[in-house]
Amino acid sequence: MAPPITAADLLAEITGLLGAGAVLTEAADLAGYCQDARHKFRAPALCVARPRDTAQVAALVGLLHRHGWPMLPQGGNTSLCGGATPDDRRPVIVSTQRLNRIRDIDPFGLSIAADAGCTIAALQEAAAGEGMLYPVSLGSEGSCQLGGTIATNAGGTAVLRYGTTRANVLGLEVVLPDGRILNTMRALHKDTAGYDLKQLFIGAEGTLGIVTGAVMRLYPAAPASAMCWLRIDAPARALDLLRLFRAHAGRLLTAFELMNAQQLANVLDHGTHPAPVESREGWHLMVELTDTRAQGLDDLLMAALEEAFDQGLILEGTVAQSLAQAEAMWALRHSVTESNMRVGVSITSDTAVPVGQVPAFIARAEAAVAAIHPEILVTVVGHVGDGNIHFIALFPTAAWQALPDPAATEARVREAVNDIAIELGGTFSAEHGVGQSMVAMMRRYKSGPELDVMRALRACLDPSGLMNRGRVTG
Ligand SMILES: Cc1cc2nc3c(=O)[nH]c(=O)nc-3n(C[C@H](O)[C@H](O)[C@H](O)COP(=O)(O)OP(=O)(O)OC[C@H]3O[C@@H](n4cnc5c(N)ncnc54)[C@H](O)[C@@H]3O)c2cc1C
Repeated sequence: MAPPITAADLLAEITGLLGAGAVLTEAADLAGYCQDARHKFRAPALCVARPRDTAQVAALVGLLHRHGWPMLPQGGNTSLCGGATPDDRRPVIVSTQRLNRIRDIDPFGLSIAADAGCTIAALQEAAAGEGMLYPVSLGSEGSCQLGGTIATNAGGTAVLRYGTTRANVLGLEVVLPDGRILNTMRALHKDTAGYDLKQLFIGAEGTLGIVTGAVMRLYPAAPASAMCWLRIDAPARALDLLRLFRAHAGRLLTAFELMNAQQLANVLDHGTHPAPVESREGWHLMVELTDTRAQGLDDLLMAALEEAFDQGLILEGTVAQSLAQAEAMWALRHSVTESNMRVGVSITSDTAVPVGQVPAFIARAEAAVAAIHPEILVTVVGHVGDGNIHFIALFPTAAWQALPDPAATEARVREAVNDIAIELGGTFSAEHGVGQSMVAMMRRYKSGPELDVMRALRACLDPSGLMNRGRVTG
């Protein structure tokens, strides 16, 4: 390794490599990259480097590797667990925002090859332009990027039908921590030649390399949608309805989203969304069926609803009568994070439990957080069809400010909620990743052998520990 380099010399080398316009150093320019989406994490970076292609990423990473300088890959910076914001080691933020080319679309093999910096919305649009569907869909899709969603194995609202991001990766291009390029960009649906190396980098949160490109699965476009909003009395009813909708619609069941009355109130009171049903009370389900053709889809939905009403599973419901109404329901669902920020300080879980355990998990978590602080507003929103419940302990701002030790309270809430998920056979990190905020949970819940293997893999690829140091495995 070369002798230690000064920050000024390193900046000069990076600028020489990428060009002055590609390197941000002014505090005002860095601000948006150094703070997370929910304004919970903020720390300085040496600079933001914005390479324009894979070769530049490789050259930059090779340079940082030679000088032993920490680096942090960043996509859309929409991480909800502090994954993409720096810590106090002043890393170079390697932003993929200029890697935004769609490379190829294959209508026969149903795949798209793209740079890692393409937003999910851009992928969806490119696929739709060719009569196909990129199925990963999440509230941050206008900002989050392909590389970031691969690095976190993002889930979202269509996992029930299309799986998580991992299920949709066919090939990857990754710059390894020493600057070499590992290329598995093969648009193949079958390939058993040796280890499936791409799997290592999916969900690794940038600790093993920087994803610069990917080949992703596409599906036939499914523009026909039948959608409804249902009010129910309890989470157990959501499971009854899940079985019923599966029996009626099979694989056409695409979204099955649950929220409680508090979550709906947060959105309605702090936004301009119309109320989907008359009463806010109880629990709310958003259900969507999609298909390649509209024919028969509404009938399918109505038949399921009729049976559900006959069985007394639903208190109240609305069927979207137009695309605008369906879009309004989605807009409401996608604005939960933003509206919760207006109510106070959220301690958000990313738990998943076996689907049948969702009602028990919610009931036990409600009791556990109520015992910690009487003013917590229990807010629940989740992809119930996947067992992935975001159980949110929401402190009104005044209550949060009055806490003698907010960090200790936050830790108690996190442990209480996550302990219950683990006891029920679940996880504390279903789709957002580990980032900074969940590292302690890794130590608490992962077994010694699991952590040992993860650390060994990391040491093998990044022996100097330069990539996303302190994250994931600590
Ligand atoms: C309003 C809102 C709604 C959301 N809804 C969902 C949801 O429904 N489901 C869900 O799963 N998530 C959701 N998220 C969380 C977030 O959008 C996802 O985790 C997303 O995958 C992050 O993508 P990003 O490009 O912003 O990555 P970033 O936030 O920039 O980075 C996330 C992590 O990946 C690493 N990383 C980023 N790019 C690369 C790369 N090219 N190579 C290697 N590592 C990289 C970073 O270092 C960091 O560790 C939501 C966030 C918001 C703000």
